[in-house]
Amino acid sequence: MPKEESAATHAFWLAGRQATGEAAFDVTSPWDGRVVGTVSVPSDAQVEEAVAAAYAVRDEFAATPAHVRAAALDHVSRRLVERTEEIARLISAENGKPIKWARGEVGRAVSVFRFAAEEARRFNGGEAQRLDTDAGGQGRLAFTRRFPKGVVLGIAPFNFPLNLCAHKIAPAIAAGAPIVLKPAPATPLSGLILGELLAETELPAGSWSILPVPNDRMPALVQDERLPVISFTGSEQVGYAIMDSVPRKHCTLELGGNGAAVVLADWASDEDLDWAASRIATFSNYQGGQSCISVQRVIVDASVHDRLLPRIVAAVEAQVTGDPADDATDVGPLVSQAAAERVEAWVQEAVDAGATLLTGGKRDGASYAPTVLTDVPADVTISCEEVFGPVLTVQKVDGEAAAFAAVNDSRYGLQAGVFTHDLQTAFRAHRALEVGGVVVGDVPSYRADQMPYGGAKQSGVGREGVRFAMDDYTYERVMVLTGL
Ligand code: NAD
Repeated sequence: MPKEESAATHAFWLAGRQATGEAAFDVTSPWDGRVVGTVSVPSDAQVEEAVAAAYAVRDEFAATPAHVRAAALDHVSRRLVERTEEIARLISAENGKPIKWARGEVGRAVSVFRFAAEEARRFNGGEAQRLDTDAGGQGRLAFTRRFPKGVVLGIAPFNFPLNLCAHKIAPAIAAGAPIVLKPAPATPLSGLILGELLAETELPAGSWSILPVPNDRMPALVQDERLPVISFTGSEQVGYAIMDSVPRKHCTLELGGNGAAVVLADWASDEDLDWAASRIATFSNYQGGQSCISVQRVIVDASVHDRLLPRIVAAVEAQVTGDPADDATDVGPLVSQAAAERVEAWVQEAVDAGATLLTGGKRDGASYAPTVLTDVPADVTISCEEVFGPVLTVQKVDGEAAAFAAVNDSRYGLQAGVFTHDLQTAFRAHRALEVGGVVVGDVPSYRADQMPYGGAKQSGVGREGVRFAMDDYTYERVMVLTGL
């Protein structure tokens, strides 16, 4: 495929400055295969230089005044606003994300940097504790402050290529922890663009690097003892392999899910069902279902099932598929043809095992049609694994307890949505569901970037959300004062 006229070779960011390496790779659009850009790959020596610089600057960075770090974060946030359209076009081109969703992603990254600036100003963790509550502590006082654990290694996935890089780098800067960030190989350009904005700030050289290191060279970086904190977002397989390889490091793992939307008996008016169907259709197909909190499973009380199902099918069929650059497009291609072929195979397996295909089920290159399945056997792949594609399954259940049990019948536990008006039911759901977040009155796909976010069970370890990532990147150090 020819290169776009605008396709350029992109440098990476080594200790806050641009650099190029010896090799490079092309980033292609999953929509039409054109080369969107060429990315320079750092050599081993350059990776070493970035890690050594981050390690050397860690005390200086931890001591950088909060107002300096907050000003840098505010600057990035403002510049993202100014460059929204350009950056959204880049995300859409390399990821295949419809442009309207790409604009939304830039908007979320704007918020992440703004929240991080606010947290940088107030973050301290200090708490005074009296020790004279027993005789041995008489005349003593303890108080705590939080200090960075050291340099963070951030590893980001392809599906929110800007905002999930923002979720690694912004809290690190806010906490005063240097970071070496690695974007995903399919979508490195959106992460690298953050470097352009960070390079305009006064942050100390060495405090941040953005390096598109190939996967086969990542184990050396993961093992590097100068990087004690690993913040990983991506697949369950890679995440746990990393954590298992460095059991003494602090690892945050933000992994996959097979998000459930539960519609209970009291969610029964026409207006209720129209809203639920519209939200379910939108957020099972949002960026081709390639969101970790996409709606994959719809669990419906039998009393409303027959009125909800046709509404869901109609709303799914109303999703506009096509060119991600088009403003009208709801669903673009998946990240690659291989991803679409995998989804196709899983749907076919379910249909062969007796599932009913109500709509969709067709692939065209990297694009897969929005799909609804019912009567899906419990043991087929799509019932057990994260589909990461525009496919939802609908399951009829009798009553709340059966619905909650169905949600929990999964090794994943990222978020769940519960459509109910009843406060008691909402609290029961909060207690019963084995997930990191319960969204009442909406789909599981709601995430605000400041709230604690992460998984239960095999969906991950630890929490992101700006303040919560800062807690992860730092530790509490107590000081005891004597003779008071
Ligand atoms: P992936 O696991 O294939 O890749 C994630 C990152 O890990 C990439 O940067 C990749 O280059 C890197 N990587 C691959 N092999 C590595 C190795 N051996 N050592 C170190 N790094 C390595 O995931 P993906 O396909 O990019 O993303 C999709 C997955 O991410 C889905 O499972 C999705 O649910 C999950 N996800 C989770 C969240 C969350 O917050 N829980 C958010 C978005 C995506």
